[in-house]
Amino acid sequence: MQREERTPPDKTAPGVFDDRRAQVEAERCLYCFDAPCTSACPVHIDIPAFIAMLRSGNAPGAAWLVRNANALADTCGRICPSEVYCQPACTRGKQDAPVRIRELHLYATRSERAREFHPGTSPPTGKSVAVLGAGPAGLGCAFELAKFGHHVDLYNDGPPGGVPLKSIPPFRLPEEDLVHDTGMLGRFFTAHDGTIDAPVFGGITRNHDALFIAVGLGRDRSLGIPGEEMESVFPVLEFLETAKKRPHTLRIGSRVIVVGGGNVSLDAAATARRLGAAEVTLLYRRGEQQMLVWSAEIREARRLGVEFRFHAKPFEIVGRGRVESVKCRTMRPGGENDDSGRPVPVEVPGADFFLPADSVIVAIGQDVSADWLTGLSRTKKGFISVDGKFQSSMAGVFAGGDAVSGEGTVVRSLAHGKQAARAIHEYIMRKG
Ligand SMILES: Cc1cc2nc3c(=O)[nH]c(=O)nc-3n(C[C@H](O)[C@H](O)[C@H](O)COP(=O)(O)OP(=O)(O)OC[C@H]3O[C@@H](n4cnc5c(N)ncnc54)[C@H](O)[C@@H]3O)c2cc1C
Ligand code: SF4
Repeated sequence: MQREERTPPDKTAPGVFDDRRAQVEAERCLYCFDAPCTSACPVHIDIPAFIAMLRSGNAPGAAWLVRNANALADTCGRICPSEVYCQPACTRGKQDAPVRIRELHLYATRSERAREFHPGTSPPTGKSVAVLGAGPAGLGCAFELAKFGHHVDLYNDGPPGGVPLKSIPPFRLPEEDLVHDTGMLGRFFTAHDGTIDAPVFGGITRNHDALFIAVGLGRDRSLGIPGEEMESVFPVLEFLETAKKRPHTLRIGSRVIVVGGGNVSLDAAATARRLGAAEVTLLYRRGEQQMLVWSAEIREARRLGVEFRFHAKPFEIVGRGRVESVKCRTMRPGGENDDSGRPVPVEVPGADFFLPADSVIVAIGQDVSADWLTGLSRTKKGFISVDGKFQSSMAGVFAGGDAVSGEGTVVRSLAHGKQAARAIHEYIMRKG
């Protein structure tokens, strides 16, 4: 971590601090001895240390610290939910406002973008590990395994990047940030492009010392109501992927209903508005307080003019080939709570209504889509069961990310990959 000559920061990028703003923000850090921010960051970036480096003008050192701990550093610098991890833990928040750690993290890595990144790596061990899925969990694991000196074969259906590449809208995550991260990671693994199925999985299992499965949640849940088969009803991942890759092929019309109450439904609603829909209504069966969303996302949806219809759910999509309206039922909070601690919504008889619509986007969650993973134990919700070290029910097969814990965050998946890599390293070195 030597101090080197400084490369000029990229001051052209929107949302990135300039030098002066970064200096002012770095000076607000209290350098707490117990660093609650570092404990709260799932990949445990040494936050006071990198901020101290920025303060003393050592941006290369700061960027190295962040990148070495976080395989998708620029990506997290953009979309890590600042209200969830490091920032709410910041002691400075008790005095006035927390240090804007995520923005400093992004400033550090973007400032040093032109410089090659060299983490410390161990000599080759001769062991080989297969990583299945190149989203945040798979990439985080591959990066750590390579640092231990293991050969990594990374299998994915398409270029690496997972959900951030395919579905997260470009107005929140500029593609160049993700592509910069994945480009830097490319030298740590051998990439294999193709869809994994049962025969491919069998071959991979035979040819490696251990496996890490990180296939995420690829299957959209459906509403299971009449009319859902119509052309202008879109499962949310399909909608967001098409909006990113081929927006001109989407025919959503001017009135769009988004069904769901999570961050993904807000991304879909914001995307529909940006694609030109005049009226976008989010339909949610619970109240606003029960939405599992980040406040920045709901603010942005409101700013874009998205309407909210709370305590309502669709029970029929009406139309002739294409959607014309949605029959909705009014709901209210029931007396019992579900697993999430929120009241179970119950129907209000005689209070049905119609909402006119040209298209419907169904954003009510996703499931693991890997039907070829037959030999592994699953949880009640269909996620892959693992122990505290990410070991599945099959010896030598580890798993992590959303496929294990359900819809999460990029940094949580990276952390799973990182912790699993340590467990895999112990496992294969013990095996001899
Ligand atoms: C619309 C949306 C917005 C989000 N916004 C944010 C955000 O702002 N901030 C944040 O932190 N998190 C966000 N998230 C959550 C975050 O993207 C996920 O938690 C994270 O990507 C999960 O990582 P993963 O590696 O477990 O799985 P994934 O990212 O899903 O990666 C799995 C990979 O496995 C591949 N794969 C699956 N099956 C096969 C197969 N059979 N053969 C070959 N390859 C296969 C997939 O193509 C994919 O590349 C968002 C999620 C969505 C859907
Ligand atoms: S990765 Fe996320 S939680 Fe960790 S320091 Fe960066 S912004 Fe904070």
